[in-house]
Amino acid sequence: MRSVSVLGATGSIGESAFDLLIRAGGPKTYRTVALTGAANVARLAEMARALQAEIAVTALPEKLDDLRAALAGSGIEAAAGPAAIAEAAARPADWTLSAIIGAAGLPPGLEVLRRGGILALANKESLVAAGGLVMAEAARSKARILPVDSEHSALFQALGSESLENVDSVTITASGGAFRDWPLERLARATVAEASCHPNWSMGQRITIDSASMFNKALEVIEAHEFFGIDEGRIKVLVHPQSIIHAMVSHRDGGSIAHLGAPDMRHAIGYALNWPRRAPLPVPQLDLAAIGNLTFATPDETRWPALRLAREVIRAGGAAGAVLNAAKEQALDDFIAGRIRFTDMAGAVERALDACAAESGFGDSPGDLDTVLAWDARGRHLAACTAGAA
Ligand code: NAD
Ligand code: MG
Repeated sequence: MRSVSVLGATGSIGESAFDLLIRAGGPKTYRTVALTGAANVARLAEMARALQAEIAVTALPEKLDDLRAALAGSGIEAAAGPAAIAEAAARPADWTLSAIIGAAGLPPGLEVLRRGGILALANKESLVAAGGLVMAEAARSKARILPVDSEHSALFQALGSESLENVDSVTITASGGAFRDWPLERLARATVAEASCHPNWSMGQRITIDSASMFNKALEVIEAHEFFGIDEGRIKVLVHPQSIIHAMVSHRDGGSIAHLGAPDMRHAIGYALNWPRRAPLPVPQLDLAAIGNLTFATPDETRWPALRLAREVIRAGGAAGAVLNAAKEQALDDFIAGRIRFTDMAGAVERALDACAAESGFGDSPGDLDTVLAWDARGRHLAACTAGAA
């Protein structure tokens, strides 16, 4: 029986994975090793009982008593805190989904890579902050990373066994998020509630706001560069409001292969779960005649400066990705807390990057977790200091 673990089980991606595991027969089909979550320990315990997990871990030590109470009589271990999450991630499992939000997903993801097996990676932040380290760990232990971000899963599928030499460019699409059609002058007044509504995808709040600011796509350009090893000049972003085409590989002979599907993350998660096979999934088939039109546009970098920052970060190399990711997480915290405006986020990230470049440059690509975390702390600090200082 295949063993699985889900890190970040109680989030949007985690819930989709849970749905797939339960539909596939739950504990009759999969042996669940670890499930992790944070504040919602009632839901974490419910999932752990349904999948008969070995251990459930909350990121929050103050929630441990509640988790224990919710698991009473089940025989399922309970634990809490980041070290316990890392320990649970290190327990052998054939397939592990990393669906924690933010740089917090990096340490447990590295534990998975160290022990080998398949890492289904939704946590794009770990590739943005530490792509070199993540890919080197995977190569060393022969762990297999399968991308779960929809665009990267689409690229992985469209690429197949094609050599990158034959690829002219890859394109990832962006819906344009909540504010695609807003007049530019209105963006500064956008509220957290308005930024938290995605036109096509149902996702966690943070990635939904990142979609509105295009920081999500910025992270994804870096993710594509780190995962596929494609240079920045060959990674294109295309605004595609219907979110039906997720990515496209254009070959040097003039032909392109695009990946299409309904905007439902269960496709990318289920593809990674069943890889290298394909299995039926509860994802609606496309009805292109009913959709009628697929439209496309070049992204406007005045509206979405995050895309320019992503390209600058790839060209800068070293730890620039760790600084961008951390500064972005800080700026997003500040926007959600009402300390800065929606349009201040990109400025705060850019000033953090500029300050770092001026003070020290970005050094070498970090070779260990502590070095990544030090750059991460610096990025957060610089973004907090410069927020609103435009
Ligand atoms: P979410 O906020 O809905 O869920 C995050 C999960 O991480 C929850 O289980 C939460 O309890 C846990 N968590 C939060 N803070 C934590 C911490 N400090 N330590 C440990 N665990 C913590 O997020 P999501 O939308 O499901 O996104 C998860 C990841 O997948 C992100 O990296 C995101 O970029 C990526 N992703 C999401 C989608 C989507 O459709 N939601 C699509 C593509 C990629
Ligand atoms: Mg995506």
